[in-house]
Amino acid sequence: MTMARDTSEAIRAATNGQHDAHGAAMSSNSEKVARYLEVIQKLVTAWMKEGENDRTPVAKWSDSKSLRENVRLRVHEGDGVGDEALFEAMSEVLDNSVNPWTGRFLDKLYAAPQPLGVASETLLAAINANAHVMSASPMLCLAEECCASAFARLCGWDEARSDGLTMPGGSSSNTLAVQTALSTLFPFFHTDGVLGIGQELANRGLQGRSAAACRPLIFTSEQSHYSLDKAAIACGLGLSSVVKVACDDRGRMDPKELELLLSAAFSKENTASSPRGFPFFVNATSGSTVMGSFDQLDEIAAVCRKQPHPVWLHVDASWGGPVLFSQSARKLMSGIEAADSMAINPHKLLNIPLQCSFALFRNGNALDNNALDAPYLFHGRDSTSKEQKDAERKLARRENPALMAYGCGRRGDALKMYLAWLSAGSVGFARHVERGMSLAREIVDLIRTPAYASRLELGPASASDEDDDGPAFLQVCFRPALPQGQSFKEEQERSEILSKATRHVYETLKVRKRFAVDFAPLPRGIGDFIRLVTHPSTTVENLRDLVEQVAVIGEEYLSREG
Ligand SMILES: *Cc1c(COP(=O)(O)O)cnc(C)c1O
Repeated sequence: MTMARDTSEAIRAATNGQHDAHGAAMSSNSEKVARYLEVIQKLVTAWMKEGENDRTPVAKWSDSKSLRENVRLRVHEGDGVGDEALFEAMSEVLDNSVNPWTGRFLDKLYAAPQPLGVASETLLAAINANAHVMSASPMLCLAEECCASAFARLCGWDEARSDGLTMPGGSSSNTLAVQTALSTLFPFFHTDGVLGIGQELANRGLQGRSAAACRPLIFTSEQSHYSLDKAAIACGLGLSSVVKVACDDRGRMDPKELELLLSAAFSKENTASSPRGFPFFVNATSGSTVMGSFDQLDEIAAVCRKQPHPVWLHVDASWGGPVLFSQSARKLMSGIEAADSMAINPHKLLNIPLQCSFALFRNGNALDNNALDAPYLFHGRDSTSKEQKDAERKLARRENPALMAYGCGRRGDALKMYLAWLSAGSVGFARHVERGMSLAREIVDLIRTPAYASRLELGPASASDEDDDGPAFLQVCFRPALPQGQSFKEEQERSEILSKATRHVYETLKVRKRFAVDFAPLPRGIGDFIRLVTHPSTTVENLRDLVEQVAVIGEEYLSREG
C-alpha cells in the first residue's frame, strides 16, 4: 500500500473514537457523510496529485493476470469491517486503478473527467432520486428536459416539438432510436413484434414480396459502431437485417452506394444481389470510433427523402456530436437539422463522468409510441393524446420520462451535463473541441516532419475536405514505417509485417506503463494502426514523447524482424 502519510492520518483521525464496542458508528447520517467525504477528499486528491506527477505510471499493472496475482478482493461474510479497513479498501482501489489524471491515458474515447464532475457525482448520489417519474426526481427531470432542449437547439430542431432522454451509453441511445423508429413506422410492432411487421407490410399492399423481402432493414456504414448490430439483435431483427454500406477511403459512408442499395431493396424486382427486405432505418455516423470520420449528413438526408416510403434517419454522434458547439467545426454535421434522432455521449469528448449519454428525437411525440400503462407508477398518463398540441403533449410526457424508454429506474445523469454546461458555457465547450482538433492536426504535422516522415506511416487521411489530408477529428492513426530501401512485392505481406510491428509497439507501451493507447485495423485490409486520441487536456510534450517512442520501438522491431 502506498497510501500517503497525511491520508493515513486523516483516516485515523476520522475513525478515532467514532465507534461503539462492536465497531458500529455512533453518529447521525450527516455526520457520517461528512466523515466519509473528508477522507475521500484526501484519498482522491492525493491520487489525482500522484497522477499529475510526470513519473507516475498510467496503470500499475500491464495485464489482468498480474493484477489478479497481486490483488485479491473478498466480500466480508461476517459482521463487516470497521471504517478504517473500509478506507484502506478504498485506497487499494485507487492504488490499483488506471489513473486518468496522468493525462497519458489515450487509449479510449473517454479520459479523465472534468474536476467539476467528481463533485456532480457526489451531489447526484446524495439526492439519490430515480429519474423515472418527475414526482420522485423533480430537479433531475428538469435538468434532463433543459439539456435535451438545448441539444435540440444545437441541432436546429424545433425545441417545443423535440424531446430526449439520458441513456446508459451510446449503445443504449442507438438502440432506443431503432426501437422508437420501429414503433413509429410500424404501429403493429408494439403489439405483434417483428412478426406483425410482415403482416402490416402485406396489408399495406406490398404483397408479392416474399416474407424475407418484408424483413425491416437497417443501413449503416462499414465503419459504424457495432452497437447498431447489437440493436438489431435486441429488437428481434437479427444481424441479417443490418446492411453494411461501403465507405470511401476517408472512412465515410458512400451516399451513392446507400442510394443504390435502398432503391434495390425498395424495387419490386428485388434481385438476388439486392438487400432482401424493407428499408426503414439509416444510421449515419458523426465521428467514427476508429478514424473519427463524419458521414455526409446533407447527402444522406437527401437520399432518405427520395425514397418511396419513410426512412428514419438516425445520427450516431456519440463521439463527434460536440462539434455542434463550434462555429468552425459544426459544418462536419451539416444536415443534422433533417435527422429524426441523434445519440451523443457527453461522457466521451466533454469529459462528463461516465455515464452520460443522450438520445434525442426531432419529433418527441414519437417517444409516446414506446409508452405502456403501469398505473401504479405512471399516474396521469392518459392525459397525453394525439389531439393535444406538441407542447402540451410534451409537458404531459415529461411527468413520466421512463415511459419513453425501455428501462424503469433511471440515473439522473443529465444533472452532470447541466452543471458542466453552466460552468463551461457553450463557448467553453467549443474551445474544448477546437483544442482537441488542433492537437490532432499538430501531431499529424509532426509525423510529416523530416524527423519522422521516413520512420512512421500515417493512416489514410480522414478529413472531410477533399483538399485536406489531415485528421477528421481527434484520432491520429499511425504505425512504424518500413526501413528505407526495404519493400515487399505483395501489399498483403507489407500490411502483415507492419501490423505485427504495430502490435509489438502496443505491447511494449503497455509494459512501459507510461502511455495507454489502442490499435485497430483500418478499412480496405491495410492492417493495424496505433490509434491515438488527442484529448483536449493532453499536453503537446506528452504527445511528442509518445510519437518518438512509437518510432523508436518500431525501428528496433523492424530492424530485428523485418
Ligand atoms: C463509443 C461509441 C458508441 C457506444 O457508446 P457507449 O457509451 O460506449 O455505449 C457508439 N457509437 C460510436 C460512434 C462510439 O464511438
